[in-house]
Amino acid sequence: MSLTKIRTVDPGSPAQRAGLRPGETVIQVNGHTIVDVLDYKFYTYDARLELGLRDGDGSVRTVVLEKAEGEDLGLNFETYLMDKARSCANNCVFCFVDQMPPGMRETLYFKDDDARLSFLMGNYITLTNLSEREIQRIMDLRVSPINVSVQATDPEVRRMLLKNRRAGECLDIMRRFAAAGITMNCQVVACPGLNDGPVLQRTMEDLAELWPGVNSVAVVPVGLTKFREGLCHLESYTPEGAAAVIDQVEAFAARSLRERGTRLVWCSDEFYLEADRPQPEEETFEGFGQLENGVGMLRLLESEFHSALLSVEGDEEPTSFTIATGVAAAPTIAKLVEEAKAKCPALKGEVVTIANHFFGETITVAGLITGRDLIDQLRERELGERLLIPVNMLRHEENVFLDDVTIEQVEDALGVTLVPVEQDGGALLDALFDVDWDDGGTVEWVPCGDEDDEDDEDEAWDDAYEEYDGEEREEPAPAEEYYRYNPPRGRAEREGE
Ligand code: SF4
Repeated sequence: MSLTKIRTVDPGSPAQRAGLRPGETVIQVNGHTIVDVLDYKFYTYDARLELGLRDGDGSVRTVVLEKAEGEDLGLNFETYLMDKARSCANNCVFCFVDQMPPGMRETLYFKDDDARLSFLMGNYITLTNLSEREIQRIMDLRVSPINVSVQATDPEVRRMLLKNRRAGECLDIMRRFAAAGITMNCQVVACPGLNDGPVLQRTMEDLAELWPGVNSVAVVPVGLTKFREGLCHLESYTPEGAAAVIDQVEAFAARSLRERGTRLVWCSDEFYLEADRPQPEEETFEGFGQLENGVGMLRLLESEFHSALLSVEGDEEPTSFTIATGVAAAPTIAKLVEEAKAKCPALKGEVVTIANHFFGETITVAGLITGRDLIDQLRERELGERLLIPVNMLRHEENVFLDDVTIEQVEDALGVTLVPVEQDGGALLDALFDVDWDDGGTVEWVPCGDEDDEDDEDEAWDDAYEEYDGEEREEPAPAEEYYRYNPPRGRAEREGE
C-alpha cells in the first residue's frame, strides 16, 4: 500500500476546494516525485501547485491549485512520515531499548533512527544508516536542524560503542552537512571509562571545529536499568566521576565562550545531581537549547516558577494536593513548594519521591515512572484532593503510563483526582493553586504538547524553505530503489527519550 495515499481531506482546506479525494495517491508535485513527508512538505510550500494524482483504479489525473505560500494543503496520509519509519541496525552498548523488561507493548521496543523524524520531531539519529543518496537529499532540501547522537568522534571508539562498522564515518558526514549550511545539535551519552576523559576531549574539540554547523552539544550520563542480563558490563557515574566530567566540560565551555562566544557544550542536570553540585545559573544555558537532553531543565523550572510566584497574592485557599515525581526532580520541586507555602500559608500539599522499582532505582527521571509504582508507593498515604504528576509520565498523546496502566486505574486505586502538569514552572504553580485553565493560568497547559510540536514543525519547515535557493536537484529515485540503500536503523539513546 502506498503511504502517500490520502486518508482524509480537511474541510475547507485548499485540497478540498481543489477537489482532492481520500483514496487518491499523491505521485508528483510540480513535477517532483513524492517519496515521503520531506518531499511533500518541501514541494507543497509554493503558492501554485500542479499535483499528479493516482486513483485506486490506476487512473491518473492532474490538479492545479492555488493557495497562500507555506499554507498547508489540508491532506492527511496513512502515516505521518508518508513512509515507514526506519529502525536502527546499531547495537549500542548503552541502548535503553535493550534494557527494557520483556512483555511491554511492541511499539516500545521499536528503535527508530530516521533523519526525517529528527528534522520534524527532534529525534536523535546516528547517521549510520544514511545512503549517499539520502545524505545528498538532506543537503539539497536543506533539512535543518537535525539532531545527531555522536557519542564519540574517534572512529574506533564510536564503532565499538555503536557496534556498527559504519559508525566511524560520522564526522565526515557531519563535515559535509556543516559545509552545506545544515545546523546540528549533538548528544554524547557518556559511559564511564569508554567515551569520557581523553575521548570526550577529542569529541568536543572535533565538534567545535564544525561550529556554527554544530550548534550545541549535550553530554548526558548513561542510564542503566536492572534489566541488563546478557548485555556488556557498564557502570553508572559515581559522584566523583560525575564531578570530573563536569569539570572537563565546563573548562572546555569556558574556553569556547572566549573563542566563539558560546559555551557550545553542556552537561545535563543529572551530572550535577549525581555530583551533588548546584545547577548552573540561568544565563549559562544560553537560551536553553538542549532541554530535550535534560540540560538546564531544573534551572528553567525554578526560574519560571519564581516569575509566576511574583503574581501570587497569598490569600488563595486552593484544594490540597500531593506531587509525585522522580528522585532527580523531587528536591527542587519540594523547595519550590516550600517557597510557595511561605507566600501562601493556606497552601496544603507535599512532594513525594517515587523510586523506580519498575526499571530499577538507578533510573531517577520522572518520565520513566510507571502507574504501578505510583499505586504501590502511594497507596497508604493521605494524598489530599489532587495528585499532581509531570505530564511526561504519560505516553505521548495518551492517558496511559509506560506500563499501560491508565489514569483512571490510578485514580480508582488511590481515590484521588490525577492532574498531569506540563513541564513548566508557571504550569506547576498554577497546578498548586488549582487554577482553572478556562479562567486563564499563567501559562497555557497543553496535556500532550501537540500544538507546540506543530508550531515547531512549521517553523522548522519555514526556515528550511527560506534557505532553499531554488537550484534544480536530482530527481528522487522511486521509493523501492530509494530505500533499497537504506537498511533499517534506530534511536532511544538513553532513558527518557
Ligand atoms: S536505538 Fe539508539 S541506542 Fe539503541 S541501538 Fe539504536 S542507535 Fe543505539
